Formats: sequence, C-alpha cells, structure tokens
Amino acid sequence: MDINEVLKEKLIAQNPKMGQILELMQQQNQTEKGNDSFEKLKMLNKKLTLALRIEIGKNKSLIQEMDELQEDYKFIDRINDDLASAVGACPNCWGILKDCEICDDNGGPGAYPVNKAAFIKFVLPIIKNTQWINQVVVKQSEG
Ligand SMILES: [Zn+2]
Repeated sequence: MDINEVLKEKLIAQNPKMGQILELMQQQNQTEKGNDSFEKLKMLNKKLTLALRIEIGKNKSLIQEMDELQEDYKFIDRINDDLASAVGACPNCWGILKDCEICDDNGGPGAYPVNKAAFIKFVLPIIKNTQWINQVVVKQSEG
C-alpha cells in the first residue's frame, strides 16, 4: 500500500468526515480528467466536421460540373443525330470511323434516306445562302 493510502486511512480514521471530503475531491478530479477528454473529443469532432464539409463542398462542385458536362453531351448528341439524319449519314460514324457497328463502314452522307424536316432546317439554308453551291448545282444540271 502506498504512503498516500496509509495517510488517507489514518485521516479517515481520525475524522470520518475527512473520508467524504477526500472522496468528493477524488470524484471531482476524475470528472475534470473526463472533461479534458470530452473537450479533446469535441475539438476533434469540430475538425472532422469541418474537413467533412470541405469534402462535401468539393463533391458538390464536381457533381455540378458533371451535370453541366452531361447536359453539354446530351445537346451535342442530339445535334449530331439531327445533322446526320439531315444528310442521311450514320449518326455513329458519318462514314468516317472504321468498324462501325451500325453501318458496317458504309454510313457516309446519302447512305440512308434523308430526313426531310432536318434537311430543310439544317441544310437548305446553307444551299440558299452560299453562292458557290448554286454555281456547282447549275453547272451539274447543265453538264
Ligand atoms: Zn456508322
């Protein structure tokens, strides 16, 4: 038994109230140590929460960027399909890429029936407004 315990027991033997006081002091000491750990945990929790918020913020901007890219992709994909149908080309390869699963490398302009509405919307304005095209068309019809 260590000397503090011996002294404590003698004090308690002489004065029973001293036992209660010593017990309370010990409890308070333990509570303070407990509070220390609690404060450390609170601080750690704050740091972790902050780090988590930063990561969530990064993810939000990445998700937003991805959504915008997906919208851009959808737009380009739709325009590609419209233009390909306007000239009767394979929308997957336009007759340019090798090993096309859709047209088997035969998908250039004119390979498929032209979509009239798409032709009028996307191609006809170019023919009307481009003089050299008219000259080529006239020469071909004459020759
Ligand atoms: Zn193709």
